[in-house]
Amino acid sequence: MAKNILHCSFCGRSRDEVKILIAGQEGHICENCVEHAREIIDQELLVRDEKSTGASAFKLTVKKPMEVKKFLDEYVIGQDEAKKVLAVAVYNHYKRLQYKTSDSIKDEIEIEKSNIVMVGETGTGKTLLAKTIAKLLNVPFTIVDATVFTEAGYVGEDVESILTRLLQVCNYDVAAAERGIVYIDEIDKIARKSDNPSITRDVSGEGVQQGMLKLLEGTDVLVPPQGGRKHPEQKLIKINTQNILFICGGAFDGIDKIIARRVQTNTIGFNVDKELQESMKKNLLRYVNAMDLKNYGLIPELLGRLPVVTHLDPLDAETLRAILTEPKNALIKQYTRLFELEGIKLTIDEDVLNFMVEKALEYKLGARGLRSICEGLLTDAMYELPSSKEKFFNLDMEYAKRKFEKSKLSLLKVA
Ligand code: ADP
Repeated sequence: MAKNILHCSFCGRSRDEVKILIAGQEGHICENCVEHAREIIDQELLVRDEKSTGASAFKLTVKKPMEVKKFLDEYVIGQDEAKKVLAVAVYNHYKRLQYKTSDSIKDEIEIEKSNIVMVGETGTGKTLLAKTIAKLLNVPFTIVDATVFTEAGYVGEDVESILTRLLQVCNYDVAAAERGIVYIDEIDKIARKSDNPSITRDVSGEGVQQGMLKLLEGTDVLVPPQGGRKHPEQKLIKINTQNILFICGGAFDGIDKIIARRVQTNTIGFNVDKELQESMKKNLLRYVNAMDLKNYGLIPELLGRLPVVTHLDPLDAETLRAILTEPKNALIKQYTRLFELEGIKLTIDEDVLNFMVEKALEYKLGARGLRSICEGLLTDAMYELPSSKEKFFNLDMEYAKRKFEKSKLSLLKVA
């Protein structure tokens, strides 16, 4: 009789001992064994995934510095020095990782990573550079804003949550996150106030800098998996930051005066005409170094962990004009495609392009403003044309001026 009682073929439990018994061709399986099997499969797949990503991360993406620069050139106009510095840092980052993983190298030389600070006016392409590098790379990459940690002071987000973002983009794969890249924007906003002439916020920045130091130092950091504040009941994930590359960016408003003081060009601010002052200012940024950043209010310990300092040039008319049409996904190319999708051929007169640049400069809107200007000039056309039978649209100067006057942008004019 016992022969007729059904059993799970895996754990041997009888029909009475389990809730569900699924029949197969030769045997049965109970719900407990299904669950166990699932766990084994998940674990096995995860290990295989890790193995394959570990191998492909190097094979697929090591790019020589010149190749990285070439790729950046397709998306970002100018900024050659910053591009070179980034290209070398990223390449070395990979070399370091390979070096670490290579068992054959037994010597004691430890290559330190070169975290970077980019100094440049807002809208000059710092984030764009960081994002474009992310496109090229096969490592987890995230952009965080340093002000998140300042604005709410010590009751804001813990600095560790920078790493939470990194974990999130790679689906909590700790090994991958540990060789990722983090771009920290607005690093200048956490400068210490006492040394900094242009920031009116309170001292809280120094505390955040101290917190960041811990991350940059290359130690084990306990990270809250969902970000925000740590709390006692939370399970924390341990991440070693030794191989994470940190790139920081900031406008550092007013740093030109600090550089000027250092290089003793004390003509600045006196009997010098505006144009000359501007061009000197542009050149001054080229001389920026760690000492200036210290005088601006970054603590020396933090700067010690950010050994590479580079700058971005302000955008002049020529660069803005190139930004409109040259990058791979240039604004004008995007609008042309949008019209094309409606079956309409968009052409824009040369003088209209120059007009856009002129207005962006005049209203101090920078490269970001080019987009709003295009939008202002083309919205009506994009509204009307899909319902018409037109197959061509030429944006000429007369139309552009009319639309510009009517757009909200013309109200931004500074007296
Ligand atoms: P930042 O981070 O320096 O404040 P962004 O990188 O966010 O500035 O630039 C804002 C936008 O302006 C970018 O998305 C891009 O469209 C445009 N832009 C700025 N600088 C450049 C540049 N050098 N080349 C191409 N586009 C640029």
